Amino acid sequence: MSDYVIPPYAPSSLAIKDESSRFPIRRVFCVGRNYWWDAGQDAQNTARELPFFFMKPPDAVVPAEGCIAYPPLTADFCHEIELVVAIGKDGADIAPEDALSHVWGYAAGLDLTRRELQAEAKKAGRPWEGAKAFDASAPCSALVPVAAIGHPEQGAIWLNVNDVERQRSNLSDFIWPVKDVISFISSSVKLRAGDLIFTGTPTGVAALEPGDVITAGIDGINQFTVTIGERKNVSLVDVA
Ligand code: MN
Repeated sequence: MSDYVIPPYAPSSLAIKDESSRFPIRRVFCVGRNYWWDAGQDAQNTARELPFFFMKPPDAVVPAEGCIAYPPLTADFCHEIELVVAIGKDGADIAPEDALSHVWGYAAGLDLTRRELQAEAKKAGRPWEGAKAFDASAPCSALVPVAAIGHPEQGAIWLNVNDVERQRSNLSDFIWPVKDVISFISSSVKLRAGDLIFTGTPTGVAALEPGDVITAGIDGINQFTVTIGERKNVSLVDVA
């Protein structure tokens, strides 16, 4: 045993549906735009841009249950429902046709976003961490093992706020399917067992208010309900 000067952290982890064991989280990758947000053939006829990814810290992942804190420094706190892929086997330069063999399971998660900070970062050419990597920014349902459900290629992905539908699409509508996302990320870094990938959100992202009740999920995988907590901290406007 190494002698640490402060207590080492236990890994963040996700519950597994109908099992007592947990899935340890190594890193969290998030894919940028991966559904067409602009309706119509014109958008779909334009060439697919290569995917891109950003990251969140592993301890941003929290169970998608109970109350989710309204974060500081925002007045434009937005939901993004996403398919979450849990990697169970290391691999670099993974070919798309081999990619699904690296998946341990799937979940439904939220890529919560401080939208005005993202807009400012885009405008200034700055990193997205301020907008994306805050505490509890990645609520996630229990994982469902591939052993139980295989590799879903379709299924509704949806999100309601206070029983009003905000987002609805289908896993079949990905611009870059899971196998391509895994192949792409693994060409940049070696994917490791324990990595999570948030795979992008369909159109309909919008702001949340304290007290809002989100019910969301992916048919055939999992669903969840969370409530947004009170605003406790000053907004960016107050800080400026
Ligand atoms: Mn997202």
